[in-house]
Amino acid sequence: MSSETIFSKIIRQEIPAPLLYQDELVSAFRDIQPQAPQHILIVPNKIIPTVNDVCAEDEQALGRMFIAAHKIAKELGIDESGYRLIVNCNRDAGQEVFHLHMHLLGGAPLGPLLA
Ligand code: 5GP
Repeated sequence: MSSETIFSKIIRQEIPAPLLYQDELVSAFRDIQPQAPQHILIVPNKIIPTVNDVCAEDEQALGRMFIAAHKIAKELGIDESGYRLIVNCNRDAGQEVFHLHMHLLGGAPLGPLLA
């Protein structure tokens, strides 16, 4: 049994965080501490703690995360200028919330990834 994080409460709208996107598989909302002019978190509705916990039955949700990313980027008007998608896994990557999530960052030049 995977333990819930704050993201489950946001997905269920038990705490206020406007959803930019939601369907039966994924949800998206703004990061509370934005690292770029546009910083959105895209999460599977199912609790998957890390990339290491992904299994075959999650394929559809993982694909949907990318489709949602494109849709949101387009709605925000940053699809053509560009954006970055990041998934952190475990300690060395700095993962803080153990509910798999994709960061969508954009709205300004982001610089090199590995500076
Ligand atoms: P990680 O380092 O795990 O990849 O990223 C976790 C992200 O979740 C961080 O960027 C952090 O700012 C964001 N975050 C943590 N708690 C909350 C919260 O309660 N609401 C929202 N919207 N974002 C959060």
